[in-house]
Amino acid sequence: MHPTTQLLQEARDRVTFPIQELTKLIYGNEETYQTFMKAQKIIANEPSIRNHPDYHNWGRKEQIIKSYEKIRIMHQHFNLSNAAHWAPLLSLFQGTTPSAVSFGMTVPALRFLGTDEQFNLWGPKFLTMEIVAAYAQTEIGHGSDVQNLETTATYNTQTNDFILHTPSVSAVKFWPGELGFLSNYALVYAKLIFNGKNKGVHPFMVQIRDNSTHKPLKGVAVGDIGPKLGYSTKDNGFLAFDNYRIPLNSLLARYVRIENGQFSRHGNEKISYASMMVSRQLIIFIYPRMAAQSLTVAIRYSITRQQFTNDKGVENSVLEYQTQQDKLLPRLATCYGMIFVGLRIMELVDDNFHRVLKKDFSTFQQSHAILSALKAWSSQWVVDTAEWCRLSCGGHGYAHYSGIPAIYFDTAPNVTLEGENQVMYLQVARYLLKVLQYVEKNPEKVPFYFNFVLHIKETLANQSTEYGQLLKLTLTIQLINVAKRIKESMGTGKNFQQVWNEVVGVQLLSVAQRYAEYFTYLVFQEQIQSANSSVKEILQQLCDLYSLQVILDNPNTLIESGRINGEQFKQLNEAKIELLNKIKPQALGLVEAFNFNDNALRTCIGCHDGKPYEHIYEWTTKENSVNIKGVPQAVNDLMGTKIKARL
Ligand SMILES: Cc1cc2nc3c(=O)[nH]c(=O)nc-3n(C[C@H](O)[C@H](O)[C@H](O)COP(=O)(O)OP(=O)(O)OC[C@H]3O[C@@H](n4cnc5c(N)ncnc54)[C@H](O)[C@@H]3O)c2cc1C
Repeated sequence: MHPTTQLLQEARDRVTFPIQELTKLIYGNEETYQTFMKAQKIIANEPSIRNHPDYHNWGRKEQIIKSYEKIRIMHQHFNLSNAAHWAPLLSLFQGTTPSAVSFGMTVPALRFLGTDEQFNLWGPKFLTMEIVAAYAQTEIGHGSDVQNLETTATYNTQTNDFILHTPSVSAVKFWPGELGFLSNYALVYAKLIFNGKNKGVHPFMVQIRDNSTHKPLKGVAVGDIGPKLGYSTKDNGFLAFDNYRIPLNSLLARYVRIENGQFSRHGNEKISYASMMVSRQLIIFIYPRMAAQSLTVAIRYSITRQQFTNDKGVENSVLEYQTQQDKLLPRLATCYGMIFVGLRIMELVDDNFHRVLKKDFSTFQQSHAILSALKAWSSQWVVDTAEWCRLSCGGHGYAHYSGIPAIYFDTAPNVTLEGENQVMYLQVARYLLKVLQYVEKNPEKVPFYFNFVLHIKETLANQSTEYGQLLKLTLTIQLINVAKRIKESMGTGKNFQQVWNEVVGVQLLSVAQRYAEYFTYLVFQEQIQSANSSVKEILQQLCDLYSLQVILDNPNTLIESGRINGEQFKQLNEAKIELLNKIKPQALGLVEAFNFNDNALRTCIGCHDGKPYEHIYEWTTKENSVNIKGVPQAVNDLMGTKIKARL
């Protein structure tokens, strides 16, 4: 057998748990799994959309055209109006997916904020892509602070319509995805001015391009904002209005209406977060699956990559080195936790939306807090994981051919978009403090996933070093400390706003992240309990490694509070090393349970056949268009004539 193939095969033979049992858990249900497998097959087998080795040598325009072709073909095969259907597919494409913003953000906003008539008017046109609509909220001057957006929609009593206007450069809409060229509509967030009064920021469904020519309509300036860190296929755009008239029906009117010349509000305006909830849910669901791709590449490559000879005269696979295991295995364990969280979040958010549509807001705030915490934590973790996977593949990891740099680029924006992560964490901290206040007067109001606050005394008294207990203890101590600090600081003459912004900001971020980590632990435990007995042991090992890594990454609270001593800390470190040894022989099975085919991984170093070097050389010599097309004329000119002429 080919020597590196043999290394991979031997690693496969060492796996002791039934891989397909984990695959079932990863995809949650048979329908999602079959959709995912079908999509992988279609992409790999259809030449016009197949992920291409030379993709990163192409120009941006070629990449965009190819991504449009992909989405056209995927529309033929899948119901892209159903997020559960298309969400798992997004990790399989080279580049971002056109129309994902339109389906993932604008359609949900229309669903929750529009009346049924408005949804029936525009909704079906999204399905046929007769309408593609950007979600145009952010402006050059403001993103996180939505209440200070400057675009105005002024109600005109005479004509019973609105005038949409961009009063300054800082009011120009900037960043919305699919606005640059794809969209013909935009959901524009603007300050509603009624009888000279600002009624707050509301969404307006606005046509911006002509239906037949696709040219911007008169009064609209729109285009692409230019190259970015990654995301080359996403036409993030700008949009400005010059006293642009839009009909009354443009205002999404489920909760805010103008009827018979009167402005009125109906129901709970918190619903305006609803569409963001959908997109955050998708970020949590989809992107850990891209981390799973980078881990698949890195672990397969680390088994086939050999460096330095051992005392038996045999070269070591680099995965044999403890330091390499330390780079990858805790991340693999966390990846499982994140994937389980993604599945659980889909259920929680679904349940919340069903309630909201019946005007029941009882689970709304907790869902917002959980989503914000997990969006922030998982999005940063996915980017960090891509970087660690790249590093773990040495030089070859740096090449686009490894498949890893693109994962880094394409997931990096998630830290900022759909709510900048630190701003998200601050909202989570606010909710945690609110829940803490329920304890004395309204304990029945404490939601299930926050009920650690109901057991503060027991948690503080518990001396166990069981990992879940240590995670809960850290979270509890941090929450109590920050609440105390706020109270003390307010006693020194500072108001709440000052204390929040200037005294406790760093503590707030920390407690919010601790919550995300603890939530992940709880979901991991739920999965273990419901899993088939054949995989309970490996799942428990993964959960233990995940928990230990989290504890060891941030031990300060436990050490400062005297809850663990030096000896216990040493034991935790030793327990982690022991787990690395146990999980290492299972690592290949754990990544192969994700079941990505080679084309979906877009890699030449992490393929199923374990032949990284042959593929590297083949891609470099046969697929690299820079070699195929030959030396550019400018180089010939420089080397052939100009320099020599001067000599
Ligand atoms: C690739 C990409 C795609 C996007 N797509 C869309 C889209 O489709 N539609 C759309 O409308 N927008 C979109 N955006 C914009 C995005 O939603 C905003 O950039 C994001 O919400 C962050 O807002 P900001 O840029 O104003 O950052 P800022 O809020 O200005 O953040 C700058 C810094 O200030 C800090 N900060 C801000 N407020 C506080 C505070 N209260 N306390 C402490 N620190 C604070 C932040 O932590 C950050 O470090 C996209 C952005 C990107 C990068």
